[in-house]
Amino acid sequence: MERLDKLLAATGQWSRKEAKALVKAGRVQVGGARPKGPEDKVAEGTPVTVDGRPIATEQGVYVMLHKPAGVVSSTQDPRERTVLDLLPQHLRRRALFPVGRLDKDTEGLLLLTNDGPLAHALLAPGRHVDKVYYVEVDGRLDQQDRRAFQAGVTLADGTVCQPADLTVLDPPSQGLVTLREGKYHQVKRMLAARGKPVTYLKRLSMGPLTLDPALPAGAWRPLTPEEKASLG
Ligand code: URA
Repeated sequence: MERLDKLLAATGQWSRKEAKALVKAGRVQVGGARPKGPEDKVAEGTPVTVDGRPIATEQGVYVMLHKPAGVVSSTQDPRERTVLDLLPQHLRRRALFPVGRLDKDTEGLLLLTNDGPLAHALLAPGRHVDKVYYVEVDGRLDQQDRRAFQAGVTLADGTVCQPADLTVLDPPSQGLVTLREGKYHQVKRMLAARGKPVTYLKRLSMGPLTLDPALPAGAWRPLTPEEKASLG
């Protein structure tokens, strides 16, 4: 048996206070009936709905964050603000961690979850999850850069990257880069190898997940059930 408000908050979608408000507003049903209050006890396995939709009863929490520049994408840092500092208390308590890393000065899509197996599967080297970045460089991107990306760029330390896509935008100091692997500082190192240092970098998508344009930098929202399902 679990208190209803606690059960709702455990999904990571609402704080305890928001959960109480949902119940009071009559938006929650337990076993097909309207509960008396947020403190009602719910037996395991009883269907609970909010606005007619079943709540996610598994313990997984999945958050899309628009990472701003200036925060590090680790869970703890002695000096720097971390991406977890951007989340409310009720989520921080759920032991979320970022799936993959973005540099401190990189912005854009970051998925946070407490679902270890899913994170592991998405990051597995054999999985080849496409990551798309918007990039601005000092210099002009051109078709030679595009062909070099397609052939596999050799980094300054001799590492050869897998083929990647580069779309040159207008103005040509801007482009879209699609990577299928995730080496440390990869986009910056690839473009440095082409003599065109990165001045701005933002991740737009990761596999089927696209950064929600309605999310300003620093904001987050839970994944929709469709987004969650698309991750497999
Ligand atoms: N490539 C980089 O250089 N930095 C990032 O943060 C992500 C990809």
